[in-house]
Amino acid sequence: MRIDVFSIFPTMVSEFAGQSLLGRASQRGLLDIRVHDLREHTTDVHRTVDDTPFGGGAGMVLRAEPIFASVEAAQPPRPLFLLGPGGRRLDQDLAQELADGGGFSMLCGRYEGVDDRVRTELCDGELSIGDYVLGGGEVAAMVVLEAVGRLVPGVMGNAASAGDESFSHGLLEYPQFTKPAVFRGMEVPEVLRSGDHGRIERWRRAHALGRTLAARPDLIEQRGGLTGPESALLFEFGLLD
Ligand code: SAH
Repeated sequence: MRIDVFSIFPTMVSEFAGQSLLGRASQRGLLDIRVHDLREHTTDVHRTVDDTPFGGGAGMVLRAEPIFASVEAAQPPRPLFLLGPGGRRLDQDLAQELADGGGFSMLCGRYEGVDDRVRTELCDGELSIGDYVLGGGEVAAMVVLEAVGRLVPGVMGNAASAGDESFSHGLLEYPQFTKPAVFRGMEVPEVLRSGDHGRIERWRRAHALGRTLAARPDLIEQRGGLTGPESALLFEFGLLD
């Protein structure tokens, strides 16, 4: 899957994308992440990408020309998303949608933002990573790359591991443990060491429900509340009274 990113700080994103899971996926040809430097498409000696806002006010705005020129030269996969606080908020469903698609692109703003003609005439939509304001779109692009990249088929070593993690069934994941079985007197639940897959499954189901109920009751609400059997399971494990 090809994913293009446009930025005035391209190495931030390319260094990140070259490591760990994303780096290995790129080496294996599963991901084709191309980061474009918007400065390459400036025409003045100072390689100016920003200018003062019409109407006055503080800060600088990224100019339309280098962005249009850069996108036109790269012919990136569409949709092209402008990263910004006004966009559709990234969640696991959107990450999955993007991973199921045929590639997409992201444009990172900086300073006070981007000339609005870029948003309305060049981009296909807007994407936000949450209700807060960042200094630039690069971190947002990295968040999207990582959340989406790991869902692209083949990228995660164990394909099953994406299926039961947090949010995939509207629940948080059950608690995980590794060796040693006893650490400073803190013991891993016996059932997880029992080898009894039926019991382990029930324990995990109960604790995924219990954890979600405690930390994110809104997620339980979204699923339409607890079913009778779910309440019974929680009660059985002492997670509901
Ligand atoms: N003045 C703008 C914010 C500009 S922040 C406003 O008030 O809306 C500079 C850049 O950071 C933006 O152009 C955008 O690309 C990026 N950015 C900031 N917050 C973001 C968020 N929540 N999600 C994605 N990108 C964001």
